[in-house]
Amino acid sequence: MQTLYDTLQKYANVTRYDECYVSSILIEDGSFRGVTAWDLTSGEFFLIQGKALVIATGGACRMFGFTTYSLTATGDGLAMAYRAGLPIKDLEFVQFHPTGLVPSGILITEAARGEGGYLLNNQDERFMEKYAPAKMEVAPRDIVSRSEITEIEEGRGFSGPDGLDYLHIDLRHLGADKINERLPMIREIAMRFNFIDPIYQPIPIRPAAHYFMGGVHTDIDGATPAEGIWAAGEAGCESLHGANRLGANSTAECLVWGRIAGDEAAKYASSQKTLPPLPKESTLKDAEAQLFSRFSPDGKENAYALRKELQKTMDSQVGVFRTGPELETALNKIKELKQRVSDFRVTDRGRIYNTDLLSALEADNLLDLA
Ligand SMILES: Cc1cc2nc3c(=O)[nH]c(=O)nc-3n(C[C@H](O)[C@H](O)[C@H](O)COP(=O)(O)OP(=O)(O)OC[C@H]3O[C@@H](n4cnc5c(N)ncnc54)[C@H](O)[C@@H]3O)c2cc1C
Repeated sequence: MQTLYDTLQKYANVTRYDECYVSSILIEDGSFRGVTAWDLTSGEFFLIQGKALVIATGGACRMFGFTTYSLTATGDGLAMAYRAGLPIKDLEFVQFHPTGLVPSGILITEAARGEGGYLLNNQDERFMEKYAPAKMEVAPRDIVSRSEITEIEEGRGFSGPDGLDYLHIDLRHLGADKINERLPMIREIAMRFNFIDPIYQPIPIRPAAHYFMGGVHTDIDGATPAEGIWAAGEAGCESLHGANRLGANSTAECLVWGRIAGDEAAKYASSQKTLPPLPKESTLKDAEAQLFSRFSPDGKENAYALRKELQKTMDSQVGVFRTGPELETALNKIKELKQRVSDFRVTDRGRIYNTDLLSALEADNLLDLA
């Protein structure tokens, strides 16, 4: 977002809509008509008409409790696309990064293993010897994540909070100079968030949900089946990664396909002489009602608590290893949670920075995608 913001400073002819929440994508007769948005600073609800749209709203790993994602990455664009009738695919393909800091999920980057950190179980064994004797700790993420969960499930992990049993990444043998020179951020994160110093203590880690391989279905140029709509980055699925993204390859999906989809959308917009027809007034009224009148102040359900229930379900039943019975249990739970959404309680009735309402909308989006 920072890079996008900086780059936009070069162009005087681009309008930015800061602090706006896009709430729906409008498609009529198979073509893009516009998006509806809510300006959180003024409370205004409005239509953004356009000739072309690129959906670039990121993935949805916040449906998991233990994730490296920022709190704001709740898959809104994917859920909106789904509601608008666009096909979404491969949402079950989630990448788990092997070293999420326990309990926050903050990323301990590949650098820790790349610089020579050891992964240790509760017997002080470098367990990767069993699973990838040649590559050891720098084996691909999926192999390391599966190895870690195997160690934990077979009782060789450490007992952690809320079921977050963990292993250690140990940097101590690298010495203070190397840690300070090559891994200063990792040291700072461990000290600030866990009050431990990796020069003297190992860091608690376990696999964390990190990347959404699936997304809105597109062709190889990022075009969705709706005329005038493209998708790119983590929100799109041009199937670059298949079921398993390799480390650092999000750059390809975000930058390369961002460019391709952007170019295609720009070409299309230039070829359109006029804006598409305005959506029907009833469509806009419905979209506004869906946003502001859907939840009552007298509802019985707390959206924050319900989101936690979803995350607990995903963490425990839809993690690195999945089985049929566990997926069935998770699906039944998610369906039950979804039914409770209509009874969400939103006490704040204002439209300016109504974070209660935002949280309820995000929880609903995450449930649809889960
Ligand atoms: C901790 C961490 C470290 C990573 N490190 C690397 C790395 O080293 N190398 C690498 O290649 N990849 C890395 N990745 C992956 C990479 O950062 C992401 O895949 C990439 O940022 C996704 O970009 P995006 O533009 O698709 O989505 P995002 O960066 O998630 O951007 C989506 C934007 O859409 C906005 N948005 C969402 N919904 C709405 C709405 N309803 N209305 C308005 N705006 C909305 C969001 O606020 C956000 O700004 C890392 C990821 C994480 C979490």
